[in-house]
Order: sequence, then C-alpha cells, then structure tokens
Amino acid sequence: MHPRLQQDLDDFPRILDHTNQLAQTFLAGLKQRPVCPPEKEQQLKAGDGQLAEEGCGALAALESFWQRYATGLSGSAGPRYFGFVTGGSTPASLAADWLVSVTDQNSQLSHDTVAATIELATIEQLKSLLQLPGDFSGSFVSGATMANFVGLAIGRQWLGQQRGIDTAQLGVAALGPIQILSANAHSSSVKALSMLGIGRNALKTIATQADSEALDTTALERHLAATAGIPTMVLASAGTVNTVTFDNLPRLLALRERYPFWLHVDAAFGGIAACSPNHANLLEGWQQADSITVDAHKWLNVPYDSAIQFTRHLALQMQVFQNHSTYLEAPTLRPDNYLHLTPENSRRFRALPVWMALKAYGRNGIQEIVERNVMLARRLGEGLAASDGFRLLAPVNLNVVCFALSAIAGDKMTARDRFIECLNQHGVVRCTPTSYRGQPGVRAALVNWMTEEQDIILTLASMQQCRAQIG
Ligand SMILES: *Cc1c(COP(=O)(O)O)cnc(C)c1O
Repeated sequence: MHPRLQQDLDDFPRILDHTNQLAQTFLAGLKQRPVCPPEKEQQLKAGDGQLAEEGCGALAALESFWQRYATGLSGSAGPRYFGFVTGGSTPASLAADWLVSVTDQNSQLSHDTVAATIELATIEQLKSLLQLPGDFSGSFVSGATMANFVGLAIGRQWLGQQRGIDTAQLGVAALGPIQILSANAHSSSVKALSMLGIGRNALKTIATQADSEALDTTALERHLAATAGIPTMVLASAGTVNTVTFDNLPRLLALRERYPFWLHVDAAFGGIAACSPNHANLLEGWQQADSITVDAHKWLNVPYDSAIQFTRHLALQMQVFQNHSTYLEAPTLRPDNYLHLTPENSRRFRALPVWMALKAYGRNGIQEIVERNVMLARRLGEGLAASDGFRLLAPVNLNVVCFALSAIAGDKMTARDRFIECLNQHGVVRCTPTSYRGQPGVRAALVNWMTEEQDIILTLASMQQCRAQIG
C-alpha cells in the first residue's frame, strides 16, 4: 500500500474527528454565514490547478481545503437563502447522508445489501406522506431534472405504443409525428426533450389563463380537438417556480378521458405540499397522473442529490431502462429493480437521508416545515406590500414571493439588478432575479426547515435598506 494510504488508514479515526470538527464549526456559523461570498472568494487559489504528484494525506488536504475555501462557501443551507428553490439539510438527513458515504452501498438490486429494500420502503412511506395511491411505483434519481427526464422517457415509450412502435428498440426516428403540450414547462423538461431525441421544437406552448401562469384548459381542448389522433404528452405544472401556480389537474383528467394523452406532472417542490391538509387540494387529481416528479433536496430538506420519479407504468419504464448483460441479473418486473428503471447503473444509497428524515420527524414534522414556510412567505409578502418602493407581481401562492421594485425612475431591469447586488453584498438574504409577464422581478422561495419569524424581520430590513440605496 502507498505510504500515504497506509498512514490515512491508521489515521482514520482522527480524520473523521477532524471532519466532524469542521462540520460543527460550519453548522454553528451557518445562520451568520454570508449567503453570497464575494466574487474573489469564489476563485481557485494559486497552485490548486495542478495535479499533485505526491499527495499530502487526508488531514493536510482537509486543512488546505478548509483554510483556502471555507470563505468561498455560501450559507445556502441556512434560513435566509431564498434564491432558486433551495432546501437545507435537517440533522437526521445530514447524518444519514454521512452514513451513505461511510457504508458506500450500491443500491442496485444485487442481493448483498438491504439498501434496495430500504429504498422501496422509503418510496412506500413517501406515497403515504404525499397521498399517492398504491399503483404508483417510484425510483430515486439525482434531482427533478432527472425525474422529468425519466418521466418523459416513459411517456415517449407510451407515445410509440399508441402506434404499435417500441421506441426503446427502434429509436425515435420510428416514432412518427407526436406532440408535447404545456403552458409553463420547467426548463429542465425542455432540456429532457432534447436529451430524449424528441427535440425542443416538439414542445407546443398552450396559452395560460389571462391572469395567472396556469394552463388555459379551454385553449388546450381546442388544440387537442384539432390534432386528435396525434400521440400526445401534456406536461402539467404543480407549482411553477415564479408564482407556485398549479395547473388544474381535475380538468386535465377530464380532457384525457376524451383525448387520450400521457399526463406528466412536474411537482418538484409543490408536490410536498400534499402532506398538509391545508394545501393538499392543490394536488387534487395527481393520483391519476402517468408520471410525477418530486424533488427531495428542496422542500424535504435532505442534502443534494435526491429526487423521486413516480409512475403508474412500471412495465413501460422497464422497457426503456432495462439493462442486459451476462454479469447482471436479468430484468424482472419488480419495483425495486432500480438498475432497470433509471439511467444509472451503480449508484449511492440515495434513499437513506429521506428514510432517516421521515423516521426522525414523521409526517407531522414535514408538515410543520411546509406550513411554517407558507406562513412566513405570506408574512414577507405582507411586509413588502406595506413597504414603500415594492409591489407584489403576483399574490403569494404557497411559499414563493414574486415582487418588483416600484416608483423606479430609470431602467427597471438595471434597478432590479442593483437591488439584488446590494442584497448579495449585505449577505443577509439571497434572492434571484426573474421576469414575470414581461416585468423584471425578484423571487424569494422559502423551503428551508430553519427559517423563522426573526429571519423575515432581518430580510425585510435588508430589503428596505437596499431599496433606499437604489433611490
Ligand atoms: C427545481 C425544479 C426543477 C429542476 O430540479 P433539479 O432538482 O434542480 O434538477 C424542475 N422543475 C421544477 C418545477 C423545479 O422547481
């Protein structure tokens, strides 16, 4: 064994103790850590571009990373990072994530570990949490982008089936004309269409309702009637990124009765709201969807990378993802046959952080996070509406506040960018820019388990100061 490896093997306990020390330091300072470190801190330090010929051992490597780069890490897992849709990590999920690496299990069904069994049980518990019926199966993937990719891949197989074509065998060229319809597909679904060989141009945009981001089902019906007979996939939103708008799923289901189509529901973060009786009605009808995307690393607050792809079409899923080799077990139709159900072959024990979070906090704990985030988003929205210089671009639906600066003299886009730049410099709250109905806007998405009233007070203070500075 190389002497550095031998040394680290002997030093294992000290290495882990030291890592634990670093973790505790980081977590103790998380609430105060700037949400956006200065640009300079985000650069590679001199000498770190080269591959080392001689290693320095784990302790020295850890120390070097920490001393050089700890100031370049964002407090994005903390309570006031409202940019994008960014969850943190609850203690139970973080601890479990450590154990995922410590135990380094491969979650494909290899009959030498309990990992796949626990994954399946985790999926079952999630179905209970989210009120999804027994005919759904689910697989863990790395994020909602991959869940959308897998859902659309199964949908693509179904589209071919409508014409008696096995797309997995014959390729997309054999598919013939198809159409993908959506009012507000997330950009990751558009990317998935590219990855699937269907092509981004296959997406036809259906109008939204006049006053919201929701799909106009009358416009959809008109389009479906005019294109009857063309195999169709409809991409529904269950929580848009800008305004957390939910498409009307019961009406989509009624249309599907008359014009058969594959219904994919992107519920990356909105789906978690199904755990709360206050909000479950937003997801009414998703029990009948063909494929569903739910992220775990957003509102479930487990570390990256974790999402779940649900479907009621396990056989089609296996047609797409089955993996034949003399050294692998032949695919059989079972819901824990993960190697034959998603793009990956070998992969980490991805379910464990979710499993641990559900065990540690239960249905009620997850529900409390959701309801607290929603309550605080409303509080933030009310605070902004009552402050000079701000206006809401949309009502606060669920957990996202989408707002603009008002009474701006010059260019609105420039003012908005300067406002966000100012927030970044304060480091108290992170928001990200957007555009809503042609207006430059700012989004604050609340999905972190630690966010409390005090954070909204700090947020409003920082926003008001920055607004005053813009003039
Ligand atoms: C975040 C998000 C995605 C992409 O998810 P990743 O986990 O970042 O891959 C897709 N759809 C919606 C609605 C999202 O909010």
